[in-house]
Amino acid sequence: MTDKQTNFDCIVLGAGPGGCVAATILADAGHSVALIEKQTFPRYQIGESMIPYNYFPLERVGMIDKMKASDFPKKHSVQFVGRTGRQSQPFYFSEHLDHECAQTWQVTRDVYDAMMLDNAREHGVTVFENMTARSLIEDGDKTIGAVCVDQDGQTREFKAKVTLDATGGKGVAMKHHKWRIEDPNLVKRAIWTYYRGAKRDPGIDEGATTITYLEDKNWFWYIPLRDNIVSVGLVGDKEYLFDETNDLHTIFKREVNKNVWIKKHLAQGERDSDYHVCIHRSYRSKYCAKDGLVLVGDALSFLDPVFSTGMYLTLVSGELAADAVVAALKKGDVSGKQFQAYGETMCERIEILRRLVYAFYAKDFSFKQIVMKYPHLKGKVTDCLIGNLDQDFTDLNEALAEFLDLPDPIKHGRAKTN
Ligand SMILES: Cc1cc2nc3c(=O)[nH]c(=O)nc-3n(C[C@H](O)[C@H](O)[C@H](O)COP(=O)(O)OP(=O)(O)OC[C@H]3O[C@@H](n4cnc5c(N)ncnc54)[C@H](O)[C@@H]3O)c2cc1C
Repeated sequence: MTDKQTNFDCIVLGAGPGGCVAATILADAGHSVALIEKQTFPRYQIGESMIPYNYFPLERVGMIDKMKASDFPKKHSVQFVGRTGRQSQPFYFSEHLDHECAQTWQVTRDVYDAMMLDNAREHGVTVFENMTARSLIEDGDKTIGAVCVDQDGQTREFKAKVTLDATGGKGVAMKHHKWRIEDPNLVKRAIWTYYRGAKRDPGIDEGATTITYLEDKNWFWYIPLRDNIVSVGLVGDKEYLFDETNDLHTIFKREVNKNVWIKKHLAQGERDSDYHVCIHRSYRSKYCAKDGLVLVGDALSFLDPVFSTGMYLTLVSGELAADAVVAALKKGDVSGKQFQAYGETMCERIEILRRLVYAFYAKDFSFKQIVMKYPHLKGKVTDCLIGNLDQDFTDLNEALAEFLDLPDPIKHGRAKTN
């Protein structure tokens, strides 16, 4: 196979975790796969905290031993800290899970994403870095590839039986087809940075994710990473964060001073990076697939990151999309119909988590209320937070509906079948 080859069974656009999982599974199934990435790895990315059920797609692509051999901090728990700095009992995954996935990881994404990409190469995927997908190639209603541009500005047309779009939030397919539909109630700002030498809790809590509350359901994340670095992020409404100033340092410091736990933990460290800022809008593509095309990860949907579920949804969608593509290629039919089950499963899972995100932000609501009134539902709440979503959550939904207005399920995001 030469670098000039541009005809493949499958092309995967974007080499984040979603693209890498999908490409690796497709190559394992014996297909020729091109993975097309606009940047050169390692490259920076946010999204560092994993949840236990990330384990299974990672296991599928042979990444678990590599994760175990890495120096990523081990995450055994998550804890929530109140506005006054009062710490709740950490929630240890092992109390709920009798499986080694109860210990997960906090990953530095440039390192982790490069590991995933190397792993894809080892499984036979042909990787093109510095290659930007500009548009999809359509033959009538069917996608048959992508027009790409390399680092020298040369245009290359890649043709494939199936194209998988895993290009993240600025997804090529969503843009090409104008499919991006935002959730108007979940628009937040995030300001984050990195501290060196900030406090780590002792023992098994060393790698815990901590979520600390500010007023009005604004919050901080605190994620210990490798090399004595901690990722600290502030998430909130525009009005809350930017009412007095747009200066990121001033806003960050102001909010740090409002939460005793964060203030104390950062006090012994030093800021080691500039501030990053983004508006994160939750969205879902109008369609998850059509003839010859399947969307994966953030290229399909993004949900507020409060429960660290982004990479879980991305990895799962990479796995399910690849399985659907393998089955479609076997049948010799890559029409949108072949991806209906994929769309249904992804929409169901996103919806379960979306309801929980709405609950998190609901005024005057706390999950403690549910657990106090319905102690038997504690396990269901936990299942959502660890990613064990393949079950019926009707009882939890009915209980939540007693306390808050739950959003109607989003109807779009399924496969386009005509
Ligand atoms: C503030 C914030 C905090 C978050 N925190 C967490 C967290 O703690 N835990 C968690 O699990 N998730 C978190 N997330 C979500 C997480 O970052 C994403 O869900 C995850 O990175 C999605 O992976 P992906 O593979 O779909 O896309 P990406 O990781 O975005 O990868 C897409 C790849 O496609 C490439 N690409 C883009 N355009 C093109 C193109 N035209 N041609 C070729 N290549 C292209 C990009 O260079 C990139 O490498 C967070 C998100 C935000 C915004």
